[in-house]
Amino acid sequence: MEFGLTEEHQQIRDEVRRFAENEIVPNAEEYDTAETFPHDIVDEAAEMGLVGASIPIEYGGAGYSTLESVIIAEELFSHDPGIALSIMACSFGTEAIREFGTEDQKERFLEPVAAGEKISGAAISEPDTGSDVSSVSTRAEKDGDEWVINGTKMWITNGSVGDFFVVLCETDPDAEGRYNGFSQLVVEADRDGFSSEKITGKMGIRASDTAELVLDDVRVPEENLIGTRDAAFMQQMYFFDETRTGVAAQGLGIAKGALEASLDYAQEREQFGKSISEFQAIQHKLADMATKTEAARNLTYKAAWNVDQGNDITKLASMAKEYASRVAVDVADEAVQIHGGAGYVNDFPVERFYRDSKITQIYEGTTEIQKNIIARELLD
Ligand SMILES: Cc1cc2nc3c(=O)[nH]c(=O)nc-3n(C[C@H](O)[C@H](O)[C@H](O)COP(=O)(O)OP(=O)(O)OC[C@H]3O[C@@H](n4cnc5c(N)ncnc54)[C@H](O)[C@@H]3O)c2cc1C
Repeated sequence: MEFGLTEEHQQIRDEVRRFAENEIVPNAEEYDTAETFPHDIVDEAAEMGLVGASIPIEYGGAGYSTLESVIIAEELFSHDPGIALSIMACSFGTEAIREFGTEDQKERFLEPVAAGEKISGAAISEPDTGSDVSSVSTRAEKDGDEWVINGTKMWITNGSVGDFFVVLCETDPDAEGRYNGFSQLVVEADRDGFSSEKITGKMGIRASDTAELVLDDVRVPEENLIGTRDAAFMQQMYFFDETRTGVAAQGLGIAKGALEASLDYAQEREQFGKSISEFQAIQHKLADMATKTEAARNLTYKAAWNVDQGNDITKLASMAKEYASRVAVDVADEAVQIHGGAGYVNDFPVERFYRDSKITQIYEGTTEIQKNIIARELLD
């Protein structure tokens, strides 16, 4: 059993940390307050190969493994989750093209994302469809060589800045079985009938763009169908282990960032004539925060390693996602407490970590859904 990271892993971590300290930290509060997408930082991240990190090298990506992507996410999210998500989500949805796309689709869609020229998104959720993905009602009907798409997608990351979206559509309403009859289609944002409206006022990850998409008789060619018609669910299940592990890494990063900020603050702040880090109550908080963060790291890295080995890890990926997101929320909460009043305003990053942490328990399958999966797997 080998728990250590290789020298190459550590180099990736160090480079990402330098980038985050120099480019992200000085701008984090500004983008959060303005709720604007950090195009300039994303462009710089693309030059470093951090955008589309898992896109294969032959299509211009860095071809990072899941473990390497986890290390990158942990580091970026430990500095600012909103900007980190803006960077890492630039390639949302492209996993489907990477695995099931045609050569033409890979060249058309993966290459520009890896080059930082285009931004993608994954459009699954709808106003009436969240946890129960099988109730998706966006409809795609075949008309000659084209698909005609109608529906509304909700909460779509990159919705108002993205160039194309992998859209989950119902293509055969009469299909037998709850999970049959759905397909994934690429929809470019400049198609007639496509519109988006940015959602503002989010609790956290405010630099990251979120929008509602309306598809009104949008026509896309047959060549935009990804993989097998009517088999989108089977295709999507293929990535859950990877994508849930990715959100676990986000939670881990937030916990790490909140812990590091608390260690600094606890040693600087004095009350009753001594550093608050000398109070056992504060020491115990720090000890608990560090232990939980380390446990989340072990679960997340183990899940990532298994994904890279090609192992089926449905239960482990859900455990990592559920646990690391809970740790993010708990550790960020204690971080604010350690900062006292100073933690309640945006002078310190822990206020942002506290707000940003919550989303990791919601997207990519809520905490409750992860627990349903873990229990199902245990009882199977
Ligand atoms: C900032 C942000 C970004 C997002 N980005 C994307 C994106 O890029 N693409 C995309 O497609 N979606 C995206 N989402 C949507 C996200 O995936 C959904 O919000 C999430 O899946 C939950 O769905 P819902 O909001 O409809 O909640 P609901 O499904 O309505 O759930 C409400 C509550 O009921 C619980 N619940 C539901 N079903 C069960 C059950 N069977 N057992 C126990 N409890 C249950 C849930 O856990 C939750 O607590 C994003 C959301 C946000 C807020």
